[in-house]
Amino acid sequence: MNTTTPPLLGLMMDVPLTVSSLIAHAARHFGDTEIVSRRIEGDMHRYTYRSCEKRAKQLAQALIALDVQPGERIGTLAWNGYRHLEAYYGTTGFGAVCHTINPRLFPEQIAWIINDADDSYVMFDTNLARLVDGLAQCCPRVRGWIAFADDSHLPAMQSSTPLTSYETLLEPHDGAFDWPLLDERQASYLCYTSGTTGDPKGALYSHRSIVLHAFGASLPNAIGLSSRDSVLPVVPMFHVNAWGIPHAAPLTGAKLVFPGNRLDGKSLFELMEAERVTCSNGVPTVWLGLLDYMKEAGVRFSSLQRVGIGGSACPPAMLRTFEDEYGVEAIHGWGMTEMSPIGTLAKLNSEQSQRPPEEQRRLREKQGHVIYGVDMKIVGDDGRDLPWDGVTFGELHVRGPWVIERYFQKDDSPLVNGWLPTGDVATIDQDGFMRITDRSKDLIKSGGEWISSIEVENVAIAHPAVAEAACIACAHRKWSQRPLLVVSKRKNAEVTRDELLAFYEGKVAKWWIPDDVVFVDELPHTATGKLHKVKLREMFREHVLPSA
Ligand code: AMP
Repeated sequence: MNTTTPPLLGLMMDVPLTVSSLIAHAARHFGDTEIVSRRIEGDMHRYTYRSCEKRAKQLAQALIALDVQPGERIGTLAWNGYRHLEAYYGTTGFGAVCHTINPRLFPEQIAWIINDADDSYVMFDTNLARLVDGLAQCCPRVRGWIAFADDSHLPAMQSSTPLTSYETLLEPHDGAFDWPLLDERQASYLCYTSGTTGDPKGALYSHRSIVLHAFGASLPNAIGLSSRDSVLPVVPMFHVNAWGIPHAAPLTGAKLVFPGNRLDGKSLFELMEAERVTCSNGVPTVWLGLLDYMKEAGVRFSSLQRVGIGGSACPPAMLRTFEDEYGVEAIHGWGMTEMSPIGTLAKLNSEQSQRPPEEQRRLREKQGHVIYGVDMKIVGDDGRDLPWDGVTFGELHVRGPWVIERYFQKDDSPLVNGWLPTGDVATIDQDGFMRITDRSKDLIKSGGEWISSIEVENVAIAHPAVAEAACIACAHRKWSQRPLLVVSKRKNAEVTRDELLAFYEGKVAKWWIPDDVVFVDELPHTATGKLHKVKLREMFREHVLPSA
C-alpha cells in the first residue's frame, strides 16, 4: 500500500452527533408526546417534548446570560423529573457540562465531588435544601445555587447561600435559540463513580458517546424502545444518566414518566398504572419493594410489558416472580458508570429460545450478551485471555466508543493494552453470555479456592422468608476465609439459622454453604442501592464463626 496516498474519504455529511439533536428530534417529530412527572410537592406535572425543548433553550439562554462558558460544569442534585431533564439538555446543548450528583452520598463526599468538578452553578430539588445549605459553606467556588422551583416554592435557606429560583431564571428568556453545532468530541456529562473505597472518580462523557449509547440502548436487543412505549426510569438521573433512558426516549419518541422521589412500591405501581407504563428500569432493591407491595395488595399490572434489572445481580427468584406470576418480561443487564453504562443484556436469540425452558432460564439469569458498541473478554492473573467455556473465570475487560479512556482530572490511564479492567470477575459461555461471579474484592477465598458471594446470596433469596441476603468473607483460622450470610427477613416471615442452612443442601457445593447466618432488620446499601459490602465487612469484622 502506498502510504503517501491520502485515503479515499466517503462523501457524506459530517453532521456531529450532539446531545441537543436528540431533544430537537423529539420536539420536531414527537412534539405532542408527553413527559409526565411526579413533583417533589406531590402533584403531577405534564407537558410535551415540544415544551421541554423550549424550556431547555430558555435555560441555555439564562446560563449564557450568567456568563457560563462552554466546558464549564453545572451540577444537579435532583430526582427524576422534567426540570432535571431540561437541565440535561439546557446545559449540554450549548457546550456546558451537566454534572449529575448523587444526593444520597455523604455531604462531605458531595462537597468533595462539587469542588473536584469545579461546578460553577448547582441546580437542586427543594427537598434537598438543608443539604445544599451545608454544601454552600464548603463549596466557595460555586457562583450560585438554583432551586428547581418558582419563587413561591423557594425553600427557606441561610441568607449567605446565593440562591435563585429556576423559574425566575428562565422567565426573561423566550427560547428563541438555535442549538450550536458543537464538536461531537466535546464533553457533555460528568458522573462520579459511587466510590465505596477511596475518592470517587469522574467519568466525563462526550456528545458522541452519549448519542451512540442512546442508539445502542434503544435497540431491540437492549432496552428496546419505540414511540409506542411509555417508559418509567426508576434508576435515578444522577446515576449514569438513568442508564441513558432520558436520551433513548427522545431518540425513539417514547413517552417519559418520572417518579420524582417517591420510589416505594405503592407509588410506583400507581404511577405505572395511571400512565400506562410499558417498560421500566431499576435496581433489584426497588423491584423488591414493588413486588412486596403487589403481593400484599393483591394487585396486577395492566400495561407493563418488561422491566430492566441491573446495577447489581438480579436474584433468579425475582426474574421468576416477574415472569411466572405477573407475565412481565424481566431482562437482566450489566454495566457501569465507566461504560455510560450499558454493557450486556440477557436476551435470547431465536435458536436459544427453542432450547428446553430450564436452559433458557439459566441463560437469562446471567448478565447477558454484549450489544454492538461494547467488546468484552476475560483475562487471567497473568494477563492472558481466558476461554469462553462458561466455567473459567477471570477479570472482565471491556472497550468501545462509550467506555472511558481516562478519569476526569487524572493523567494516568486505567487501560491495559487498550481495554478497561472492570474489577468484576466473570465467566463467558459458548453463547457469549457473561455471568458475573463477583466484584474482585468481594470474592471469598476458602482454602485457596474461590466462592462466589453472588451465588450464595441467590440461594438464600429464593427462600420465601428471606427479603435480602448478603454473603461476605469472615476470617477463619484454618480456611483463611469462610462465607458468612447476613439476612433480613420478610415482614411476618420466620426462618431459623439451621433451616436456612439446610435450604442450601443440594443447591451449591457443600463447601460453599455459609458457616453462619446472622439476622438483621435491614441490610446497609450504598448510595446507588447496591449492598454495602464494605460496611458489612466492617460490621462483622469481629464475628466469630462457630467453626473457627
Ligand atoms: P456503577 O458504576 O455504580 O453503576 O457500578 C458498576 C458495578 O455494579 C459493576 O462493575 C458491577 O460490579 C455491578 N453491577 C452492575 N450490574 C450488575 C449485575 N447485573 N450483576 C452484578 N453486578 C452488577
